[in-house]
Amino acid sequence: MSAKLIKGSEIREQILAEIKKEVEDIKAKYGKVPGLVTILVGENPASISYVTLKVQTAHSLGFHEVQDSQPVDLSEEALLALIDKYNKDESINGILVQLPLPKHINEKKVLTAIDPDKDVDGFHPVNVGRLMIGGSEVKFPPCTPAGIQELIVRSGTVTKGAEVVVVGRSNIVGKPIAVMMMQKAKGADSTVTVVHTGTKDLAGHCKRADILIVAAGVPGLVKPEWIKPGACVIDVGVNRVGEKVSEKTGKPVPILRGDVDFDAAKEIAGSITPVPGGVGPMTITMLMANTLKSLKFKLGIPV
Ligand code: NAP
Repeated sequence: MSAKLIKGSEIREQILAEIKKEVEDIKAKYGKVPGLVTILVGENPASISYVTLKVQTAHSLGFHEVQDSQPVDLSEEALLALIDKYNKDESINGILVQLPLPKHINEKKVLTAIDPDKDVDGFHPVNVGRLMIGGSEVKFPPCTPAGIQELIVRSGTVTKGAEVVVVGRSNIVGKPIAVMMMQKAKGADSTVTVVHTGTKDLAGHCKRADILIVAAGVPGLVKPEWIKPGACVIDVGVNRVGEKVSEKTGKPVPILRGDVDFDAAKEIAGSITPVPGGVGPMTITMLMANTLKSLKFKLGIPV
């Protein structure tokens, strides 16, 4: 039997529609809209396309959006001064510095200069600490893990008491999603195991998972026989495995594969995310959700 597809591209549309409606309501009642600034240093083509997508999405939701593009030779001092300016700007609720930064700039120094209450990416150590404490302490869960949790919940998967196995322990995906799923909270309350390259029996752990979250960056790492029949499989991996010519544009485009052997896994899993079109579309969506949250915190609206 074929698994139910968890389509991030459809769930994204639902969430964006909810955000847009809330933005309209808040604007009507308080005369305020969420403000998001995206700071881009240099002209890295991939960064430009990510920033453009973020700006377009913010714009489509009725946000006040500022795209602040700076030259590649901007000094670290000048970037810190720019962040300080936006930290103090009342119209801005979220500050996003597009990574990677040029080599002469210390990324850690820059990210920790962002006011934690405007850190909608959720990478500031204060927000990492808040995530660990859980409950009402949490302000901005990092966007990709927040998107993963939305996919799990909105696909109707039961999380309370579920065995969750997370493959990967990166600071941006593996660790935060593991912490989020183990919290005593709605959409969580799971029993979590984190596996990595030091794990002795990767397959054995994966086979126990009611919910298997894979963020390793290794195409096809998870074999179909590692999947418990009926499990919910969230494939975070985005791996370029080659190039093909786009039928639409006639230009070369990358062939993307996840960390799970999708074609075989979908015959065993109960539900599964495709790559592309699964977790990918959720990250920017959750950035928008965090920016709206930031305004709500400021206005004292319950989140
Ligand atoms: P990362 O920083 O490279 O971390 C990968 C993790 O997987 C590490 O903890 C590593 O273990 C573990 N791992 C790697 N190979 C393994 C193996 N053979 N067996 C067991 N564990 C293994 O990667 P990341 O930033 O978390 O990203 C992971 C994947 O998700 C990538 O494909 C990335 O492109 C994708 N991603 C997608 C989105 C999105 O769709 N929006 C966002 C972020 C990331 P060790 O710690 O032991 O080295």
